[in-house]
Amino acid sequence: MANIGFIGLGIMGKPMAEHLIRGGHTLFLLTRSGVSEDLVALGGIVCTTPQEVAQQAEIIITMLPDTPDVEKVLFGNNSIAAGLTDSSEVRKVIIDMSTISPLATQQFAIKINELGHDYVDAPVSGGDIGAQNAALTIMVGADEAVFSKVKSILELMGKQVTLIGGNGAGQVCKIANQIIVALTIEAVGEALLFVSKAGVDPEKVRQALMGGFAASRVLEVHGERMINRRFDPGFRIELQQKDLDIVLASASALGISLPNAATTHELYNACVAHGGAKWDNSAIVKMLEKLANH
Ligand code: NAD
Repeated sequence: MANIGFIGLGIMGKPMAEHLIRGGHTLFLLTRSGVSEDLVALGGIVCTTPQEVAQQAEIIITMLPDTPDVEKVLFGNNSIAAGLTDSSEVRKVIIDMSTISPLATQQFAIKINELGHDYVDAPVSGGDIGAQNAALTIMVGADEAVFSKVKSILELMGKQVTLIGGNGAGQVCKIANQIIVALTIEAVGEALLFVSKAGVDPEKVRQALMGGFAASRVLEVHGERMINRRFDPGFRIELQQKDLDIVLASASALGISLPNAATTHELYNACVAHGGAKWDNSAIVKMLEKLANH
């Protein structure tokens, strides 16, 4: 059993950390919003800085909102890097499970390697339900030997854990996931708006389509949310906006154009401008309804 640090215990991180504790590991916990009593009651140990987490644990997991948050926790004041320097006799592993920039990820990995430790990018798909059910898809960028060291730990949180390539490859895979997911949510929103404007029952349409070629997890989960107007998160609009920022910046760095990703990004920007940053990302349908005056 391992000493594992877990930093970022929000919608995703909290249930993920709980699976690790139930798996028999000792967890050192830190989150800006305060560690929940449930995790402490299970035996989780509360730390006060990333440095302390990195001193105590041999594997340190981060599940934070965005690239600057991960950078700050890794290399800012009282950071993981400072904790690693304090305990340089043991080769430790940092696993970042947040969705962040692949280019920044490669730079973070180089800096952690220079300190004599290993880095794994392991972003996830499957949402809050996947996190609660330990059923996440985990996309890993790491050296093969480091991956073998941490695979069994990742398997406590996910049902499909895949080594995609070296550092950054996990985040590239996650970007591909977000292109498909965000554009499909937008497509489901357009289809359901069309149906309701045509005076046809959207739930009957959703159920019928689930038997055909348009079937998807997005139609199942987000379609249901749109029809029943359940816009509590889930996955917040501001995080989907951030993911599409990463998609477009990465595409631009490669010199390619992703026209539908750019349009969908604009719709998420409009959601934020209309006060929807904290809504679930299926609330993009509200923007489509505004455009249609529906
Ligand atoms: P969240 O906002 O609910 O949780 C983030 C947590 O990080 C919060 O508890 C916050 O207190 C903590 N935090 C932020 N900065 C910190 C700091 N400097 N030090 C310590 N703690 C800090 O977000 P979430 O929905 O759990 O998402 C986390 C990551 O997972 C994001 O990158 C997101 O894109 C990705 N993700 C989310 C989902 C989803 O359905 N919510 C699905 C897949 C991937």
